[in-house]
Amino acid sequence: MARKKIIAGNWKMNMTPSEAVALVNTLKPLVVNDDVDVVFCVPAIDIIPAMEAAKGTNINIGAENMYFEEKGAFTGEISPAMLVDAGVKYVIIGHSERREYFAETDETVNKKILKAFEHGLTPIICCGESLKQREQGITIDWIRQQIKIAFLNVTAEQAATAVIAYEPIWAIGTGKTATSDQAQEVCKGIRDLIAEMYDAATAEAVRIQYGGSMNAGNAAELLAKPDIDGGLIGGASLKPDFGQIVNA
Ligand code: PEP
Repeated sequence: MARKKIIAGNWKMNMTPSEAVALVNTLKPLVVNDDVDVVFCVPAIDIIPAMEAAKGTNINIGAENMYFEEKGAFTGEISPAMLVDAGVKYVIIGHSERREYFAETDETVNKKILKAFEHGLTPIICCGESLKQREQGITIDWIRQQIKIAFLNVTAEQAATAVIAYEPIWAIGTGKTATSDQAQEVCKGIRDLIAEMYDAATAEAVRIQYGGSMNAGNAAELLAKPDIDGGLIGGASLKPDFGQIVNA
């Protein structure tokens, strides 16, 4: 069965609640496409108003992060139950900016993934190498280690529904995109690893996105690759270009 493409925007720390509503209203006619899952991952404070603005459209509102505990004394954190109650289905886990600025590790990423699945949320699991690691020739080894730890204790049934975002750190927000061959090579490497860890059916089902300066100009070539099932898009998700990516 063909995998449905998934195009997700990562708004990062942009858009106040009223700006979020305006952006959803601007983008909603541009992202109509029943063949693609369209997700806007927005700041926590924007989830409710964006959800309201997106009602009746094909847009899913997702979160950019969540905590791995159920509830309690964790000031400033958002729980999985809060996301579910707000109507969220997708949550980005382990974005490289969270790893770099907020000390997230492969271990906390694994805990969050397990908790997301427990609550019926679909994690968009980020992995990716630095420029130094690419130059050292250890990209695939690095990604394999990230994915192996991320998926510890994740069942095959859960893994089949996961979304993995391959995001080379050197390509995020830099305007430098991986070539479609570089992106395909790593996305295929991830799928091969999922087949090794689970089985061929799970590997066939899991959706793997590319992320890193994807835009209206380069999306079609990247999305044409056999193991690239979508994109995680930062900068271009805040502009009408996002509609062109969805329809690429
Ligand atoms: C991202 O934030 O995940 C991302 C890929 O950003 P950008 O598209 O701006 O490189």
